[in-house]
Amino acid sequence: MFINKRKYSTNAEQGQLNGGLKNQQKFTPDTPKMIEFIQCGCYHRSDGGSSAPVMKMTEKASIKEPEHMKILEERIRKDGVVKEGNVLKVDSFLNHQMDVSLFHEMGLEWKRLFEGKNINKILTIEASGIGIACVAAECFGVPVVFAKKTASINLDGDMYTAKVESFTKKKVSDVIVSKKFLGPDDHILIIDDFLANGCAVMGLIDIINASGATLEGVGIAIEKGFQKGGAEIRARGIQLESLAIVESMDATTGEIVFH
Ligand code: 5GP
Repeated sequence: MFINKRKYSTNAEQGQLNGGLKNQQKFTPDTPKMIEFIQCGCYHRSDGGSSAPVMKMTEKASIKEPEHMKILEERIRKDGVVKEGNVLKVDSFLNHQMDVSLFHEMGLEWKRLFEGKNINKILTIEASGIGIACVAAECFGVPVVFAKKTASINLDGDMYTAKVESFTKKKVSDVIVSKKFLGPDDHILIIDDFLANGCAVMGLIDIINASGATLEGVGIAIEKGFQKGGAEIRARGIQLESLAIVESMDATTGEIVFH
C-alpha cells in the first residue's frame, strides 16, 4: 500500500481513471481540469500485465464540477468592475481588450456542453458578441453570422428583422440578418457576451423563428442570474449554457458572488 498524491490533467489519464473506478462515480471527459486524488493501491490482472489503479477519491475529485468555468469566474473577480445600474464592466479581457486564449477555452467548453447537437452556424449580435462568437465558431468548425444593428431598415424583403433594447444604452434598435445567411436548413447556436433581461437573445430567437431555422441552444459568457433573461429562456425549454453566472454584485463594495 502506498500513498501517492498526484495531479491528473489529461483526458487519457481520466479515461484510465474511469476504467479503474468501475461502477463508482465516473469522470466525464472534461476540459483539462486538474484532478487531485490519492492513489492508494493497485490490483493485478490475471495475465500479470499492468493494472488500472484502484482509486480512493478525495471529496474534491469525486464531485463533478459545476458546468460553468472557474477560470472565467476568477478572471471576472480579478478584473471585473461593478458599476451602478447592475452593469459589470469587463473591458480589459472581454468587451474592449480581448483575451483570445480565454475565448478559446470558452469555445471549447461550449463545444463540450453542446456535444451531440447538430450545429452548423453560430448567430450573435453586434458588437461585443462578435469576437467571442468568432473564436467559438473555430472550435465548432462553423461560420458566424452577426445580427447588425441599424438605424434605418431597408424593407425590400431581403432581411429578417427584430427590435432589441440595449441593456447598457437603454435604446431600442432594429437588428437585421440577411435572408441569404439564415434559412430552414440551419441549426443555430446563439452566442453572446452577457445575458441580462434577455432582449438581445429573444430578438435573435425571433429572427431564427422567422427564418425557419432550428435553434439548438444558447451559449452565454456571463449571465447575471438576478435578472430575468436566464429564467425566461430556460422556461422555453431552450438549452442555455452560461459559463459564469453572477448571483449578486455590489457596486459599493465591488463584491461579486457567483452561482
Ligand atoms: P439583455 O438583452 O439580456 O438585457 O442584455 C444583453 C446585452 O446587453 C449583451 O449583448 C451585452 O452587450 C449587454 N449587457 C447586459 N448587461 C451587461 C453588463 O453588465 N455589462 C456589459 N458590459 N454588457 C452588458
